[in-house]
Amino acid sequence: MTSMHPRFQQDLAGLDAILDEARAIAGGYLRELPERPAAATPPALPARIALPEQGEGALAVLRRFMREHGDALSGSSGPRYFGFVTGGATPAALAADWLVGAFDQNTQRNGDTCAAAIEQQAVNLLGELLGWPPAWTGVCVTGATMANYVGMALARQWAGHRHGRDVAADGLLGLPPIPVFAGSAHSSTVKALSMAGLGRAALRALPLLPGREALDVAALERALQEHGEAPAIVVASAGTVNTVDFDDLAAIASLKRRTPFWLHVDAAFGGIAAASARYRPRLAGIGAADSVTVDAHKWLNVPYDCAVAYTAHLPLQREVFQNHSAYLPPPQAVPDNFLHLAPENSRRFRALPLWASLLAYGREGYAELVERNAAAAARLGELIGADPRFRLAAPVRLNVVCFALADGDAARLAALRQALHEDGTAYLSPSVLDGRPVLRAALCNWRTTVADVERTFAALQRLLAVSGGVGAVSRTLAR
Ligand SMILES: *Cc1c(COP(=O)(O)O)cnc(C)c1O
Repeated sequence: MTSMHPRFQQDLAGLDAILDEARAIAGGYLRELPERPAAATPPALPARIALPEQGEGALAVLRRFMREHGDALSGSSGPRYFGFVTGGATPAALAADWLVGAFDQNTQRNGDTCAAAIEQQAVNLLGELLGWPPAWTGVCVTGATMANYVGMALARQWAGHRHGRDVAADGLLGLPPIPVFAGSAHSSTVKALSMAGLGRAALRALPLLPGREALDVAALERALQEHGEAPAIVVASAGTVNTVDFDDLAAIASLKRRTPFWLHVDAAFGGIAAASARYRPRLAGIGAADSVTVDAHKWLNVPYDCAVAYTAHLPLQREVFQNHSAYLPPPQAVPDNFLHLAPENSRRFRALPLWASLLAYGREGYAELVERNAAAAARLGELIGADPRFRLAAPVRLNVVCFALADGDAARLAALRQALHEDGTAYLSPSVLDGRPVLRAALCNWRTTVADVERTFAALQRLLAVSGGVGAVSRTLAR
């Protein structure tokens, strides 16, 4: 008989000290977060390091990580990281996420854990926050890309049936192409079309309304008429990443009543706007959707990785994702085993942080977060609009601000972004709007206030003024 390796023995005996160390590290990181550089400039690391024979033990490894790599962590969960569409982690979600690892539940409904029932509550709580139809069901996935994939896989199954084919059983081979009409589809939709076997080339980009990122619904109507009776998919945007524009879902819904198509709505972060009564009308008509994507790790401020794939067609979902084996229960009526509904089999209890955050802050909390971020974005837009050296590249529709230099100098704009990154006050990501480079600030963090955008704007002004240009500006924020 062999005995437990001494390192396991040591860590089992020292578990409380290890968890206390993790808590101390996390506490220190979070205390510093508002003042640490908004984004790191990590050194290049070797892809291969030595695997120890003996092992170092948990405490030593945690300390080693912080010693060697702590400074290379991004401040992306902090209040002035405005890159991409990046949320933080509310205290309730963060604490629950720690517990997810401690509990280490598998979320299949095998009658031996509450995890699947909590997941069902979590997706229904979120649906209620956003005003989704109560008949929709949802499943937690790793992100909006996977939720878009689920949507495309269900659309494929629906279109297959219209062609008299069970695609889940027999594949797509030999069927006519299934077109996917969209205005400003997110790049992840294109990836999802590849993963779902519909093909990246299935995407038919349609004209946008003048000066907008929203789909021209009249163009969609014409495209559908030309396409005729064969099944088609429409991917609508509820919040584009550059200007947070919303497709007219109500108008799209009324087209759908005349010519049936599969309507998938990518509401990855824009969907959260529906938590606020002020912004909910932007999603009017979403009830006609067949599948909907909502990210939890963006504007809901649940830590990575968590999103919800909603659908009005649970039976199709079961056709696509069912998983049979002698030792696994067969698919049943609702409530179902997530094993038969999700792309994954074994999966993390990622619903718990979502559940905890929704219960901790409620409808009022999330409405306040959305409105506070939108107000801060409006303030940033106001400051940029009032400074003749800058040009607001699009109206601030919700929580994203796109801008450039008034003189249109792209190289100086890139240098300004780099200088801000090195300065550490805030982090903005680059983008392209109307064919021109812009800087983009997306406000999604629960800690962000108007003071944060005023401080960011002051840093931009200061960096722009440095010797008439923005050369190497040393980091001013001492660690
Ligand atoms: C971020 C985003 C995605 C992709 O989401 P991930 O969570 O990164 O997979 C898809 N659509 C939109 C509109 C997004 O903003």
